[in-house]
Amino acid sequence: MIEIQNYIDGELAAPVSGNYLENIEPAKGEVYSKIPDSDKRDIENATAAALRAFPVWSKTPAKERSNILMRIAELIDQNSEMLAAAESRDNGKPIKLARSVDIPRARDNFHFFATGILHFASEAHEMEGVAINYTRRQPIGVAGCISPWNLPLYLFTWKIAPALAAGNCVVAKPSEVTPMTAYLLSKICIEAGLPAGVLNIVHGLGPKVGQAISEHPHIKAISFTGGTATGKRIAQTAAPMFKKLSLELGGKNPNIIFADCDFEEALKTTVRSSFANQGQICLCGSRIFIERAIYEKFRDAFVDRVSRLKVSYPEDPDAKLGAVVSKSHFEKILSYIDLAREEGGHVLTGGEPVQLGGDYEHGYYLRPTVIEGLAHSCRTNQEEIFGPVVTLTPFDSEEEVLAMANSVEYGLSATIWTENLRKAHRVAHKVEAGIVWVNCWLVRDLRTPFGGMKNSGVGREGGFEALRFFTEPKNVCIKL
Ligand code: NAD
Repeated sequence: MIEIQNYIDGELAAPVSGNYLENIEPAKGEVYSKIPDSDKRDIENATAAALRAFPVWSKTPAKERSNILMRIAELIDQNSEMLAAAESRDNGKPIKLARSVDIPRARDNFHFFATGILHFASEAHEMEGVAINYTRRQPIGVAGCISPWNLPLYLFTWKIAPALAAGNCVVAKPSEVTPMTAYLLSKICIEAGLPAGVLNIVHGLGPKVGQAISEHPHIKAISFTGGTATGKRIAQTAAPMFKKLSLELGGKNPNIIFADCDFEEALKTTVRSSFANQGQICLCGSRIFIERAIYEKFRDAFVDRVSRLKVSYPEDPDAKLGAVVSKSHFEKILSYIDLAREEGGHVLTGGEPVQLGGDYEHGYYLRPTVIEGLAHSCRTNQEEIFGPVVTLTPFDSEEEVLAMANSVEYGLSATIWTENLRKAHRVAHKVEAGIVWVNCWLVRDLRTPFGGMKNSGVGREGGFEALRFFTEPKNVCIKL
């Protein structure tokens, strides 16, 4: 059985406690590896190593830092098949998805920020005849990066790459639910020649390892992606120490479909935006609002397509959905389907587990589920489920759909379907979301600001926003 190790001060190491947790393969419901059960002491060692590495790394020319990060990107590429298999096994997602989305994007994250840092410039402000100001952007020191299980290596590298490119050292914690590819990344970093202590990866439970990162006085910035309740806890701990915080949290995203949309395109993309990665993408649209004139036509066509999606084991090349990530998550999703029924919802398709045979008998498979007949204000329509469950709601006017779309505590993303340009702009400007897609979904330009409003987060990542987050601006004013 594989025993995952921490990566501290350039070396793979056992946790100080000597204890390990079980890592379960969701497709089979079986333990298949061990994860370090690290604690405060491992974070102490990792932070000490990062502090020792910082003076040299922060002064290493950007071009040299860039070369090392490019080397990591190349090694991810060379090992992409092995990484995709590991990601799919650890998370339960179809291997096809890990191959086409997760691993290429992890490579792109390193590639993007390795080149981005070479173009990162700061401002100068001239006061005519008086003085000139220039803003220096210096690395912060040690940054903490904490990531979730849904897009494991994709989101882990989305934080680490800009932090390192900007000259920081990093103490990082992947989700204990999906630790494998972060472990494989530590081996890649050693092979790429990343100097010791520049990146440290500590595995273990959130309340122990994540909490120790939030509490550590020498970790000056935290980039976190995960649930809103966890983000709140991190903010409560870190804010009194005036740490810089970037929080990418939960969502309950509206998908607004007007009668004048390109019907076929809206239908096809909505199937994907509802159920890609088993609905476990923070950007999935879980509340589908359909203009009344096409409500029945859209509903019937959508339910027909969804009921034909194949739920299967991750290696099946025809699998459209794999297993959800864990037993507790599987049970949580089922409890929300029960709640929807109690709240008066009518399950049009799905609503139950899928029983695969043989090796996969104990895996966590769910049928993609579509529910109608619920009030927009009920719990099913207000709380994040984060699984293959969507609701359908008809609407009669722009005002009505905006009121329903904006009625939740979240504000991460929204999708709008219409061929009317003016309407698209109007609704995009009024919908409360940090990211809006019109007539598409999950089209990502890594230069754009990424993040949510309301309880979906604080701050933006992506492009130069990330490099700004991971640097401290200092104004220097010189008299002319
Ligand atoms: P989670 O909040 O349970 O865990 C995220 C990470 O935080 C894990 O590494 C976990 O170990 C750690 N953690 C847990 N308790 C902690 C604590 N007290 N202090 C510090 N760290 C702690 O989230 P999850 O279940 O892994 O992921 C699902 C959530 O992530 C969903 O809410 C989803 O919407 C959100 N998400 C958001 C985005 C985004 O970009 N906004 C992207 C992906 C996922």
